[in-house]
Amino acid sequence: MGEFNIKFPIYCDFMVTFYYGTMASGKSMQLLAKAHDFQEHSIPFLVIKSEIDDRDGENKIYSRALGSRECVTISDTDNIFNLIVTFNEINLVKIKWVLVDESQFLTPEQVEQLCALSDIYDMNIICYGLKTDFKTHLFPGSKRLLELADEIHEIKSICYCGKKTMVNARINANKEIVTEGSQIEIGGDDRYVALCRKCYFEKTHNKNYKFTVDDK
Ligand SMILES: [Zn+2]
Repeated sequence: MGEFNIKFPIYCDFMVTFYYGTMASGKSMQLLAKAHDFQEHSIPFLVIKSEIDDRDGENKIYSRALGSRECVTISDTDNIFNLIVTFNEINLVKIKWVLVDESQFLTPEQVEQLCALSDIYDMNIICYGLKTDFKTHLFPGSKRLLELADEIHEIKSICYCGKKTMVNARINANKEIVTEGSQIEIGGDDRYVALCRKCYFEKTHNKNYKFTVDDK
């Protein structure tokens, strides 16, 4: 054997990638930038999102910086594997890249379907979404992505105190943080504020939380 150990470059691997971040961390902007890149290079791709998040209107993904783009909206009963395999069978252009917005709303089964697309049909799947809900607990779709994704990346943004945001705190009309309610409640800046862990627990007066630095 020679000394040369030739490896395929990383972009030849077919992967499931999960980019997670808090609300307003730029997830949709990154998705739209990626979609724009594919379009510029004539690379066939598909953008999908859950019908649960209807803030931007049906079949649309929006970012303040990059505007909006058409997408395919799916319900939690849709089989994404069948949907995309069928799409590829009836179209001359074969999809090899799938971009998923708001992937926290995927069901665990849909995450497994995306993994099967990557494994069986050599597709690259890139999911963007929240990791945890307003109670700091994993969404089912995010949990399955954390368990199964080949690569996991955090999209970081900054709390007003300067630390990294981690919690999507839900607020009421009086801008007070609420800690009770259903896991899914669609809203934007009027309903959620991204906070670091310290600020979140400080503001929700968790008596068990011990701060290591002086704070007010
Ligand atoms: Zn903070």
